[in-house]
Amino acid sequence: MKTPNSVCVYCGSSSRVADVHKAAAHALGAGLAERGIRLVYGGGRVGLMGILADAAIAAHGEVVGIIPEHIKVMEVEHTGLAELHVVDSMHTRKRMMVERSDAFIVLPGGMGTLDETFEVLTWKQLRLHDKPVVIVDVEGYWAPLLALIDTMVEEGFCREEHRRLFTVVKRVEDVFTALDRAPEPSAPADTKWL
Ligand code: AMP
Repeated sequence: MKTPNSVCVYCGSSSRVADVHKAAAHALGAGLAERGIRLVYGGGRVGLMGILADAAIAAHGEVVGIIPEHIKVMEVEHTGLAELHVVDSMHTRKRMMVERSDAFIVLPGGMGTLDETFEVLTWKQLRLHDKPVVIVDVEGYWAPLLALIDTMVEEGFCREEHRRLFTVVKRVEDVFTALDRAPEPSAPADTKWL
């Protein structure tokens, strides 16, 4: 695809994680800003989310945050963003993040990151969108999840072609090559569930 204008990043809100993950968040925020790509994210100042946004802002990038009112206290909204949307629910946040983005990048994270990632993957599976999804497998963090997806395919719970709904890269610098490459094939039109 052509270089996206806006990219949504899903990542952990925890700060109690290894430095390698913090470095990845920093490199991604800076890398997006240097390429003139707008960052769309959850709007918080904590964990990898905060590191990501700070790095993008430091590199003069445009950052859009979308945070639900009820978790503003927990995730501490970032006050230095070009745009901060305070919304009524997690559902509104996720919908806006999808609508405002041309592609999705997944860094290491916890249950919230998984929820967001699988929502965009399942929406793509159902042909509700056709935007690239790139998973950054920092130090093999996502290996157990990728192995589970292989098991789903082997056991018949997931179609082989749905493994191609996302791209996996090992390093942040490879994200940009993955985004510039030809678009991933969308979910086949004849997908049958039964
Ligand atoms: P985590 O990966 O658990 O650190 O969470 C990363 C982000 O996902 C945080 O901004 C959370 O607010 C968000 N999140 C957590 N649970 C959900 C959910 N059920 N739906 C949408 N976002 C969520």
